[in-house]
Amino acid sequence: METEIVAVDKENVRDEDLLEAAHIIRKGGLVAFPTETVYGLGANALDEEAAKKIYEAKGRPSDNPLIAHIAQCSELEPLVSEIPEAGRRLMEAYWPGPLTLVFPKSDRVPYGTTGGLDTVAVRMPSDPVARALIRLAEVPVAAPSANTSGRPSPTEAGHVYEDMNGRVDMILDGGPVGIGLESTIVDVTGPVPMLLRPGAITLEMLRETVGDVEVDPAVSGPVTLDRKPKAPGMKYRHYAPAAELILVEADESGDNDSRESEGGKVRDRQQDPQEKGKGNQNPAGDRVVSAITRKALEDLEKGMEVGILCADETRDFYPRGAVIRSLGTRSREETIAHNLFKALREFDDLKVDRIYSESFSRERLGQAIMNRLTKAAGYHVLKV
Ligand code: AMP
Ligand code: MG
Repeated sequence: METEIVAVDKENVRDEDLLEAAHIIRKGGLVAFPTETVYGLGANALDEEAAKKIYEAKGRPSDNPLIAHIAQCSELEPLVSEIPEAGRRLMEAYWPGPLTLVFPKSDRVPYGTTGGLDTVAVRMPSDPVARALIRLAEVPVAAPSANTSGRPSPTEAGHVYEDMNGRVDMILDGGPVGIGLESTIVDVTGPVPMLLRPGAITLEMLRETVGDVEVDPAVSGPVTLDRKPKAPGMKYRHYAPAAELILVEADESGDNDSRESEGGKVRDRQQDPQEKGKGNQNPAGDRVVSAITRKALEDLEKGMEVGILCADETRDFYPRGAVIRSLGTRSREETIAHNLFKALREFDDLKVDRIYSESFSRERLGQAIMNRLTKAAGYHVLKV
């Protein structure tokens, strides 16, 4: 299949630039397009055959349901059998935006889209290209992230091209996305809304809007027999670079202060009163930098290519022989989120053998950042 690439200007979206893309979707084809979260791989959500093509193009297990994207609230009603009160309040607060809501599905939504579930996940994106495309397609658009299943989600059209060239009819290039992490998913079918996947609409924001919100245990830990995720996709190794990724985290449970620091001396910003309340603080500090440095030097000695994922505050402390990528300053967690998947892909391009990553705060957007990082690491967390 020949993949057509069409540049679109997010600042000045013209319907005529999107008519062919909308036509492809209506006819059952695949179009990758930008959203404010990550690039999506779009197909008609009401057409089971089109949904099948998404699974094929991504190599995605077919029990992993797709999110249906709509352009206006009025398009929700035909897809669902009920709109629970919590769902209504969350829609009013955060749509259009990076929030997906899980509702009981109507008969119009095929099981091929929902992975056999009686519920359907729906989102109204805010990205102007995404919204115009959905409006012109005149159908709800099923759109998982436009990456090969298991790889880091695409935050630029070039990432989509790497994974999807020859597998989709068209890629709309609207430049880099804004947020860089997939949408928050909340199930509103039960008595208490449940967070299934953290994202830019944070748990704190959800609780402010609807009060009590439960968190699916699968958000923070590996899948076990008694911890089966409610979002089926959360059970797969995900967001993962080709190299082994080891997340290094300070163990706050014991007193490790007496440990020797082998790396450069780093000020522990968490201890610094001036740095408090300025976003994603540095739970790393000396111990994490020392441990990563020690491990990286050992690996370099063995002739391995080593990647280090860190923040601006600590990037200069690591050994030169490693590939060092900073996600940005800890005081701007939006930047850390925005750069995460791109950095993981860069390590793939550079063919590193092993990546060590610093940890980040789990508050606010940090919950989503750490969720993606721990999953990318296959829950390999080294406590130091
Ligand atoms: P992606 O499309 O790549 O952002 O992944 C979609 C995520 O939404 C996956 O983790 C799915 O398991 C989850 N999802 C989609 N539909 C449902 C649903 N009906 N119930 C629970 N989770 C869902
Ligand atoms: Mg995905």
